[in-house]
Amino acid sequence: MTTPIRKVDMTTTASELPTRYCIVGAGPGGLVAGRAFLRAGIEFDILERYHEVGGIWNIDQPGSPMYETCNFIASKKRGGFIGYPMPEEYPDFPTWSQIRDYVQAMARDYGLIEHLELQTEVTAAEPLTVAGGTFWRVTLGSGQVRDYRGVVYAGGHEWKAYLPEIPGLDRFTGRVIHSRDYRSTAEFVGQRALIIGAGNSGVDIASDAAASAETAFLSTRRGYWVLPKLFFGVPTPDYIDGTEPCPTSFPSPGCTPRRSGSDCC
Ligand SMILES: Cc1cc2nc3c(=O)[nH]c(=O)nc-3n(C[C@H](O)[C@H](O)[C@H](O)COP(=O)(O)OP(=O)(O)OC[C@H]3O[C@@H](n4cnc5c(N)ncnc54)[C@H](O)[C@@H]3O)c2cc1C
Repeated sequence: MTTPIRKVDMTTTASELPTRYCIVGAGPGGLVAGRAFLRAGIEFDILERYHEVGGIWNIDQPGSPMYETCNFIASKKRGGFIGYPMPEEYPDFPTWSQIRDYVQAMARDYGLIEHLELQTEVTAAEPLTVAGGTFWRVTLGSGQVRDYRGVVYAGGHEWKAYLPEIPGLDRFTGRVIHSRDYRSTAEFVGQRALIIGAGNSGVDIASDAAASAETAFLSTRRGYWVLPKLFFGVPTPDYIDGTEPCPTSFPSPGCTPRRSGSDCC
């Protein structure tokens, strides 16, 4: 921290209000907010409850919804931080650990680590209005109270499992888990598995079940368009956002062009 955090009372004038902002969470969202504040010359702290940067991409953090077979959904060219491309040697759809390393590298390379306080949980934040304007009073897990000009909440939204009520579930004798608690394909061995829902995690986990369970079923309540991850060796998301032009002809038999412009296209 470069300047001490000032306490504010009801008589505080506008010029006496704290100037520093509090960013809650050192996942990708909190880091992007920190990078923007750095560029704008705004003072800030990033407070992270766990001992590492990276948010959900740290599979070992308690409650992380990450699973061992998870790969990035967008391609490495399409996803990632603006102005900070993923390493060239990464595959088109990096693994969760590559994304964790990339996010941590971004924090280091932009100097965000200096603004970071790890193992610092925010337990409450309330806006208070005084003579000079509004500021935020932030309480930490340690009991410490700090005053900030504002709070950016980047605590993520996938740490808590929401299980819908399903009639009869209480009489079901098999194991029921939320995708947040799924970790590895070993959980499916010898099982008849039903995956409910075809969101990103559901489809990923159903693919794991198809390969590892005795039998696997996927239940959806509506139809979906399912596209391959690659067309002609190019990530489908790259066609969709125009990063890569669509091929104008089919490749010759036996040829898998990596990119447009390949001479067997
Ligand atoms: C299985 C899975 C796969 C995904 N795959 C992709 C993908 O391929 N591409 C993509 O773009 N997105 C993907 N996502 C979406 C994912 O949410 C984002 O990639 C990204 O991690 C969100 O970043 P975030 O910083 O908002 O939240 P998070 O990554 O959740 O980080 C939040 C951070 O805040 C901290 N925190 C929370 N509360 C407090 C508190 N009170 N005090 C202090 N610290 C706190 C947490 O410990 C955590 O480090 C995926 C999500 C899941 C669950």
